[in-house]
Amino acid sequence: MSRSSIYGLTLDQLTEWLAERGHKKSRALLVWDWLYRKRVTDFSAMHDVNGECIQLLSEHFGILTMEEHLKQQSSDGTIKFLFRLYDGNLIETVLMRHKFGLSVCVTTQVGCNIGCSFCASGLLAKSRDLSAGEIVEQIMKVQLHLDQAGQSEKVSHIVVMGIGEPFDNFTNLINFIEIMKERKGLAIGPRHITVSTSGLVDKIVEFTDLQTQVNLAVSLHAPNNELRTRIMKINRAIPIEKLMNAIKYYIENTKRRITIEYILLKDVNDQKEHAIELADLIRDIAAYANVNLIPYNPVDEHSQYQRSERDTVSAFYDTLKKQGISCGVRLEHGTDIDAACGQLRSKQIKAEISS
Ligand code: SAH
Ligand code: SF4
Repeated sequence: MSRSSIYGLTLDQLTEWLAERGHKKSRALLVWDWLYRKRVTDFSAMHDVNGECIQLLSEHFGILTMEEHLKQQSSDGTIKFLFRLYDGNLIETVLMRHKFGLSVCVTTQVGCNIGCSFCASGLLAKSRDLSAGEIVEQIMKVQLHLDQAGQSEKVSHIVVMGIGEPFDNFTNLINFIEIMKERKGLAIGPRHITVSTSGLVDKIVEFTDLQTQVNLAVSLHAPNNELRTRIMKINRAIPIEKLMNAIKYYIENTKRRITIEYILLKDVNDQKEHAIELADLIRDIAAYANVNLIPYNPVDEHSQYQRSERDTVSAFYDTLKKQGISCGVRLEHGTDIDAACGQLRSKQIKAEISS
């Protein structure tokens, strides 16, 4: 299989690449249509594209570069895909069914260097970034799976919340977003795309300035530095004050709402006083913030953490509401199939190592 997928090029990049080799713009549009609307996976199937152009493309690119290694289907319709990349690495992609449509959660890196203490993805240090093509291909593989099922279903939403820190792979992330948004292709609206970051402030500013119209979610998880440093070591380098400044910059310059993610860990950050402290921390951005309370998905290696009790979650939610903070509890998908991010992958790798 090829290493380099043509899915990694934006329409402008493809047009330029072909123009440099003497092919006109309309040809790039034709190829793009075959890739994203007709969704063929072989250049030779692009019947009305000039033969020389097909040959050129096949000499330089592949279309698919990864293989489906495993697929787990949950009783609620969630499907978790484990893909093997051309270099043997494994990544996860998840398809979720909602009332509002179908969303796909994509991975951006092989492993993650941020190393949050509760996360399965951080168990394995990052071995490399995914290319833009590999991020796009995850969406295409899921879309091709839906096409084959014959129900005319379309991926309508994207969450960049799989393995990895998307802002640590910034350029590829931005190209991926552009390719997803392209009106002549999948045409997924920017407001249907959400990127989650652990809080890399310089990149939050850069992302703001790009005005992509894509939603931003920030993993806060604790209302003070002492606690946040305990569960997310990145907080030592980027403390809450800096993060809040970047969040304010985002809100002021985009006038868009932001999601604050808060994972609930039993007896660690889930008490009423934490909810009040959180409300105080975000009070002056409350009109633009929505807190997403995330029930913790237990990870074997992180046995120091447990999931908060149902009543504790309700009490936390009620306290935030009383404080005038808009919030919700994340609905869970596929709890019967290793739902926590990076969990299936880490289990599979462990199984391969021990076999
Ligand atoms: N690296 C980015 C995006 C990927 S993680 C980030 O951290 O934001 C996506 C979300 O899943 C984050 O909010 C993360 O904190 C959360 N998460 C990680 N491990 C989890 C677990 N075991 N249970 C529940 N949520 C988890
Ligand atoms: Fe990386 Fe996000 Fe997991 Fe932290 S929570 S280790 S940033 S993937």
